[in-house]
Amino acid sequence: MRAADPIRWPDGKQSAAAFTFDVDAESAVLWNAPENAGRMSVMSHQAYGPLVGVPRLLTLLDHHQIRSTFFVPGYTAHRYPGIVRDIARAGHEIAHHGYLHEQPSAIDLAGQIANLDRGLEALAEVAGVRPVGYRAPMWDLSWETPALLAERGFLYDSSLMDADVPYELSILPGSEKSIVEIPIQWALDDWEQYCFLPDISGSGLIETPAKARALWTSEFEGLHEEGGCWVLTNHPFLSGRPGRAKHLGELMADVMATKGVWVASLEEIATHTRSLDLAPRSIVRPEL
Ligand code: ZN
Repeated sequence: MRAADPIRWPDGKQSAAAFTFDVDAESAVLWNAPENAGRMSVMSHQAYGPLVGVPRLLTLLDHHQIRSTFFVPGYTAHRYPGIVRDIARAGHEIAHHGYLHEQPSAIDLAGQIANLDRGLEALAEVAGVRPVGYRAPMWDLSWETPALLAERGFLYDSSLMDADVPYELSILPGSEKSIVEIPIQWALDDWEQYCFLPDISGSGLIETPAKARALWTSEFEGLHEEGGCWVLTNHPFLSGRPGRAKHLGELMADVMATKGVWVASLEEIATHTRSLDLAPRSIVRPEL
């Protein structure tokens, strides 16, 4: 087994970059702890994302002329249909992120199938969208997920961490059938920098936007130099706050101004990767 080889980017570009957003809202703190619904302040912390964060971030993306990917749980689509339609109307990609933000690795096969199909139905019903992309809630893919995605016609997943560039992932070890995998990493997620919810998430230490931006910039510089694919993941309930959004906007300007970077949605990156006709790569589950 070896890591994916460097890939050729369009128009002679040196690297790729994507700004992505997970519109978790309430779902992320409800699926395995429904009692959190009784905590009005916690619910409001999460609701800030769709209510205030998303409109601010849409303005920011429009200002920088960036097409982004928004991963939307079906529950968010049902609770905030107008906001999800606004995202689609602004021309961004809407992708699948479970129904109630369920962690695939913690659920049996029948449950995983039900959540995938329920999420698809919600996005179709609310936004008229059939997503081509999927991101596992908590980035916690199960070994069954790739085949379930392929059966439903998905083009790509973005939840694994074993490469610097996208690759074709065999849906089962040895299979010629594949989906595109666009790797992510925890250092490029705003949750670890900003999220603090008493008794639910975080240590209580909330980092400054300047520190988060420095971390994300250092990963960007390294990946750009090596021809990689930089995928930043932000949550509107966190990075939609004014001070953080300001720094995120400055980071967008920096990335857009870097020579040789292809800034695109994950759908565009996956479509390009598929066009390269790469040999699928198998990942084998460790046997104990
Ligand atoms: Zn999420």
